Amino acid sequence: SLILAIESSCDEMAVAILKNRRELLCNVVASQIDTHRMFGGVVPEIASRMHVECVSTVLKTALSQAQVNMQDIDAIAVTKGPGLVGSLHVGMQAAKTLALAYHKPLIGVHHIAGHIYANELVEDIQYPCLCLVVSGGHSELVYMKHEFSFEVIGQTLDDAIGEAYDKVGRVLHLPYPGGPVIDRMAKEGKHSYQLPLPMNDDSYNFSFSGLKSAVINLCHNATQRGEDIVPEDLACSFQEVAIDVLVSKTLKAAKDYQVKEIIVAGGVSANQGLRETLTKRSDIPVLFPPMSYCTDNAAMIASAARVMFKHQQFSSLDLMVKPSYDLEEESLGE
Ligand code: ATP
Ligand code: FE
Ligand code: MG
Repeated sequence: SLILAIESSCDEMAVAILKNRRELLCNVVASQIDTHRMFGGVVPEIASRMHVECVSTVLKTALSQAQVNMQDIDAIAVTKGPGLVGSLHVGMQAAKTLALAYHKPLIGVHHIAGHIYANELVEDIQYPCLCLVVSGGHSELVYMKHEFSFEVIGQTLDDAIGEAYDKVGRVLHLPYPGGPVIDRMAKEGKHSYQLPLPMNDDSYNFSFSGLKSAVINLCHNATQRGEDIVPEDLACSFQEVAIDVLVSKTLKAAKDYQVKEIIVAGGVSANQGLRETLTKRSDIPVLFPPMSYCTDNAAMIASAARVMFKHQQFSSLDLMVKPSYDLEEESLGE
């Protein structure tokens, strides 16, 4: 199959063309991160306006890099949600226009199914598996009994892990997004600050707002007392506590559900500390997406769409964007 995929759920406009399982003919990502950095986070109105300005260029670049004609494409895939409504609309309109003009089937993809299937761009997922989804908006444990079946067995009750990283980055006055910077700083620091272990219970759920608040309070109190904090040490302490709970709960769930493999998905799967700790502590195989497919991209959407294409999961042209909707709704039967 030859699938053209569009991803525009947040501040990236991305187009990829995927041949069969893992032959990526192009993977173009136009990131607006430098613009949003000035505001310390993504400004939705600016994001959708910038998407409108660049969508045609990104599409043309992708087609010329891949050296394919629209006629050769088998299906048009697009992220239908979750994400920012205005941003999603731009990708959706582009996808529908292409599908209509070139008489191609349309495939609406759940953004997190995309993050999960980024793993399949490297090697085949072994089922049943457990997926740890860690991104800017999600922290979930997903049990996948077979291909494209999603059972959310645990999730964050408040902040997502990526969100907590970015907020900690903000109090440490780091450039947005804080996640990758904290990851780098953590390597230079030591775990010297006492922070509460978040949601350290028997459930598969997470909670990161308490940990985030503890870091923020620690910074504010230090400032008030005129004391200095050691940012590398605070980064290291925060990261180790967060990773410890993510890894412990993932390993517990993997054991309880007797899965063959653990896979990790979402922007925070780029985290070196998480990669090392989970790989070291697990006695079953752990799969991470390649670094370039961790944060938002269209290759991952194409990869999920390839599975949907195989199962003939097409959408009609009145497909609507879904700013929030459950991953479980995407599950295919056995
Ligand atoms: P969602 O996928 O839930 O809709 P999103 O698309 O905004 O959210 P992603 O693009 O998947 O999120 O991931 C971005 C997040 O990943 C940011 O919060 C960023 O700080 C975080 N991140 C990226 N690299 C790292 C890293 N090395 N360590 C920790 N966090 C990281
Ligand atoms: Fe994402
Ligand atoms: Mg993003």
